[in-house]
Amino acid sequence: MNIKVAKFGGSSLADAIQMNKVKEIIESDPARRYVVVSAPGKRFDGDNKITDLLYLCKTHIDHNIEYGQVFQVIQDRFRAIELNLGVDANLEKEFEEIDRNLREGASADYIASRGEYLNAKLVAAYLGYDMVDTAGLVLFDERGHFLDEATNEKLKEVVKQHPKAVFPGFYGSYPDGRIKTFSRGGSDITGSLVARAAGAEVYENWTDVSGFMVADPRIVKNPKPIDTVTYLELRELSYMGASVLHEDAIYPARAMNIPINIRNTNDPEHPGTIILADAPLDNDQIIAGIAGSKDYIAISLYKNMMNSEVGFIRRCLSILEDYGVAVEHLPSGIDTLSVVLSSKSVEGKLADILDEIERRLAPDRIDVYEDLALIATVGRGMNRRRGTSAMLFGALGEAGVNIRMIDQGSSELSIIVGVEMRDFETAVRAIYDAFVK
Ligand code: ASP
Repeated sequence: MNIKVAKFGGSSLADAIQMNKVKEIIESDPARRYVVVSAPGKRFDGDNKITDLLYLCKTHIDHNIEYGQVFQVIQDRFRAIELNLGVDANLEKEFEEIDRNLREGASADYIASRGEYLNAKLVAAYLGYDMVDTAGLVLFDERGHFLDEATNEKLKEVVKQHPKAVFPGFYGSYPDGRIKTFSRGGSDITGSLVARAAGAEVYENWTDVSGFMVADPRIVKNPKPIDTVTYLELRELSYMGASVLHEDAIYPARAMNIPINIRNTNDPEHPGTIILADAPLDNDQIIAGIAGSKDYIAISLYKNMMNSEVGFIRRCLSILEDYGVAVEHLPSGIDTLSVVLSSKSVEGKLADILDEIERRLAPDRIDVYEDLALIATVGRGMNRRRGTSAMLFGALGEAGVNIRMIDQGSSELSIIVGVEMRDFETAVRAIYDAFVK
């Protein structure tokens, strides 16, 4: 029998109305046998996510401030959902136990995980599925490193025993049973792990957008949706800030060649975006997407005969390493080297870094460009197509955008340009208009 794993994010489970939509989605396809849930998210702008409130409880406890009021808000949200759905998920006894654990000094991970735990109970009761706790199944070692294979084995066993189940996302446990969470947004990872263990034909990730757009809709009006994108393309796009999916959610599905389908709970008819290992190329489609972000800085070094000076680049990088700064890009010429860094990463350290470079590398000149934006134009269709870069640079030239940096990955999967921040939106629109018909 076909199996689909459906993970629902916080906004898809924020209240009873949303949960109703989830039930309809699940019941419309009997292959949707495994469901992974986040904690209830925001119902409207300015609302609180349950996970944030749970962390807030912990902060109160750490500061010896009574947390009862915050915990009450959390309980009331669950109670309201339970009441409006007309189910009895037996949450009162869970609340009591959580409260007891809070008083006895439970860890931040335990507290944060209770949003998913309670929600899985609730959704399972509502759907009539088994609730399978992921503590003891999603495994971490003593130091908190995720144990991939052991987890897969456990999940495979449990999937065999439960034809239909709801799993809480976001957490697992240490060998001694204590709870350990993934980083924020980690329910996406749990969904991917369950999909792999179940040998699912697709991992559906239900959220509040209909997949990815070719460009940011805040910049380009009504951008085209991305129907299919490869894992590698997505990586290049997400790196630039287009994050709908936790980046660690890719590898388990990818290991088994399971497509990931991003879908919209509020528009279930929309096919969304499918992420695949390899996808046939539509001939008209040169690029998959355009992603970018602002607030980068480039430090450019010039030194006569730099090209033959052994260790120059290494020394430059080691200075940045000493200051804990990650390098985004490293475009170089014969006697020039630029390092592109996020402005945030050098906040309060830039002057010291420049002094150190001056002292240890003795460049003839250092130029610093602040207010840089990076734009990645990504697509597996680019490397087979002559004239792609001409199109890109032509479009930017015509739009009057000054290009400060160019970097093309060796895979020819993307071309990254650095432009002045004030040209960012103009540049994204110019690229979109040039490539998307
Ligand atoms: N609820 C957790 C968070 O808000 C995990 C998740 O939703 O994936 O980060």
